[in-house]
Amino acid sequence: PVITRFAPSPTGFLHIGGARTALFNWLYAKANGGRMLLRIEDTDRERSTDAAVAAILDGLTWLGIDWDGEAISQYERADRHREVAEALIASGHAYRCYTTPEELAEMREKARAEGRPPRYDGRWRDRDASEAPADAPFVVRIKAPLDGDTVVEDHVQGRVTFPNKDLDDFVVLRSDGSPTYMLSVVVDDHDMEITHIIRGDDHLTNAARQTLIYRAMGWDVPEFAHIPLIHGPDGAKLSKRHGALGVDAYREMGYLPAAMRNYLARLGWSHGDDEIFSTEEMVSWFGLEAIGKSPARFDFAKLENLNGHYMRTTDDGDLLNAIVDLLPHLEGGPALAAKLDEATKAQLLAAMPGLKERAKTLLELIDGSQFLFAERPLDLDDKAAKILSDEARDVLAGLVPELESVEPWSAEGCEAVVRAFAEREELKLGKVAQPLRAALTGRGTSPGIFDVLAVLGKEESLLRLRDQAA
Ligand code: GLU
Repeated sequence: PVITRFAPSPTGFLHIGGARTALFNWLYAKANGGRMLLRIEDTDRERSTDAAVAAILDGLTWLGIDWDGEAISQYERADRHREVAEALIASGHAYRCYTTPEELAEMREKARAEGRPPRYDGRWRDRDASEAPADAPFVVRIKAPLDGDTVVEDHVQGRVTFPNKDLDDFVVLRSDGSPTYMLSVVVDDHDMEITHIIRGDDHLTNAARQTLIYRAMGWDVPEFAHIPLIHGPDGAKLSKRHGALGVDAYREMGYLPAAMRNYLARLGWSHGDDEIFSTEEMVSWFGLEAIGKSPARFDFAKLENLNGHYMRTTDDGDLLNAIVDLLPHLEGGPALAAKLDEATKAQLLAAMPGLKERAKTLLELIDGSQFLFAERPLDLDDKAAKILSDEARDVLAGLVPELESVEPWSAEGCEAVVRAFAEREELKLGKVAQPLRAALTGRGTSPGIFDVLAVLGKEESLLRLRDQAA
């Protein structure tokens, strides 16, 4: 059975690259009837915070990415990691190294002077621990082979060969007895019976070092898939301005989880020329062979368009719920949420078809719906103020009595009256509709004006029109 894992370090928010890694692991597990586990790599005690763990779980949940079983804390498994370090020493695959910080500094200095990369010179590799001063602190290092190669067979990168002499006798246990990332990851992945490791290609060299540990322990090496990191639209490393943000930021920008999933899946993976697919389709089509070898480029405009598509195709009631969920996370959102009583919710729902056609994000949707919450007399935006000239206010004054006669109040009923009025007054429809819009919404743009009239209702519509009529 396929078992994948997502293994974030809780040192910050769940960033967009991490979210994509999680999604790929989730998709691959689902596509193969397997499981995805979650491991919190919280061994860096100084930088790991509970808030970051919460943000990661929250971000995954918002995205609709679930995991099997309880999240595992790597830190809590440190005893097991130490046990494996001991086993590696016992089998001769690792050794205690008593090199002092001063000696290491000397080695670095020498390497710098000779213009080569600094590396440990292996001085304790073949020495006996009894040669060290009593109680001297030590680290545990892997005895990496001196010649030959370590080959990583990667599902994305292909066969990658690392000369062993470049791998160094790396540290697996620090002098305070804490395990390093390199050791913990291998022990945990083995114990969790991970079959496929899908992660960013910044970990490719680590895969070679980790392979040495698997071999030393006589454990099966999992399958690897190292995916290229996400780049900005300009091809450079992803910057904040270009999308290197936490998942929570995307939520606050008003993107829908389904659109995010779709967009993230397409960041590095493809299925022919398809751009839009449901989660079910992604699951059934996902495979490691279709992950690209070159970095995907993050493109806000594409994400927005995709999100607009999902907005238009999402059920009105679901959009209303999404707004209700989002408001507490927005600046000024709670005040708006307080105004959302059942009657206003019903109005919002009625306005949704017109609103969602114009909105690419939930923020735009909320913005477009502001006329529902506005209090009389309405504040006018610049465009609306310009539209409401003396002449336009005269038009409104003429129209109000006509609208008073509409019974029952409906978009169609209002439209018939407005059209008849425009014809009689020999005005283009826009010359009537624009002042109507400005007076009813305080803005130069809004959903269809007859829908606005219907949604606001007769009483409120007429009050707003009289406020602006000459
Ligand atoms: N904790 C590592 C990171 O956040 C991932 C380790 C791994 O996937 O092996 O980069």
